Amino acid sequence: MVNIILFGPPGSGKGTIARLLQDRFGIKQVSTGDLLRKEILDGTPIGRKVEPVLASGKLVDNKIVAEVLEKGIRKAKNGFVLDGFPRNSEQAGILEKILAKTKQKIGVVLELVVEDEKIIERLSSRRQCSKCGRVYGMHSIPKKEGVCDECGSKLFQRDDDKPRVIKKRLELYRNETLPLKKYFSNFTRVESIDGSRGIEEVFKDAEKKIFQKGK
Ligand code: AMP
Repeated sequence: MVNIILFGPPGSGKGTIARLLQDRFGIKQVSTGDLLRKEILDGTPIGRKVEPVLASGKLVDNKIVAEVLEKGIRKAKNGFVLDGFPRNSEQAGILEKILAKTKQKIGVVLELVVEDEKIIERLSSRRQCSKCGRVYGMHSIPKKEGVCDECGSKLFQRDDDKPRVIKKRLELYRNETLPLKKYFSNFTRVESIDGSRGIEEVFKDAEKKIFQKGK
C-alpha cells in the first residue's frame, strides 16, 4: 500500500494517471476537483457555494476543500493518490494534520512536467462526460462527437478550460503550487516525469518511480 501525491500544472495528466493507478493497482484516486464537481452535480450546499469559484479558475476556500479531502482519504483502504491537493502552503499544512490524524504517510511525490504551450492546446480540446466523468482529449476522441463512449451521455467543456481561465490557473500554479516542491522534498521522495508524452509511456515511467523498479 502506497500513498502518492501527483503534482503538476492543470492539464499535465494528473487525473488520467491517477485514474490508471486506481484501475490497475487499486490505489484510490482522491481528486479534489472531481469531488467538488460531484458536489456541484449533486446540487449540495457545498456545490452551490463552490460552483462560481470553479468557473472562474480561482481556488476554493481551504476549509471546504479540507473537508472534502478528509472524507476522500478516509474512504481509501488500499492507499491513495492525491490529484490536485495541496495547491498552496496552507493546504500543505492541512494535509500534514489530516495525515497525522489518520496515521498515514506519503510514500512519493510525482511531478508531471509539461510546457505551457502544450497545456493550453490540451485543455482547450478537453471534454468531459457529464455523467461518468470520463475525460476526452486530442488523443482520446469519442466515437460520436459530443457523446460519451462509455455511457452515452453528453460531453461538456469545463468553464475553466476556456483560454482566459487556463492562463489564470497556470499563473496560480506557478506562484502558489510549484514552490511546494521544495517543501515536499524535506519529508519525502520527489520524482519528476516528462508528462508531455503519450499516456502509456508516462504511466510506465510513473510505475517505475513509484515502485522503484530497476534501482
Ligand atoms: P482540477 O480538476 O484539479 O483542475 O480543479 C478544478 C478546480 O477545482 C480548481 O480550479 C479550483 O477551483 C477547484 N479546486 C480543486 N482542487 C482544489 C484545491 N486543492 N484547493 C482549492 N480549490 C481546488
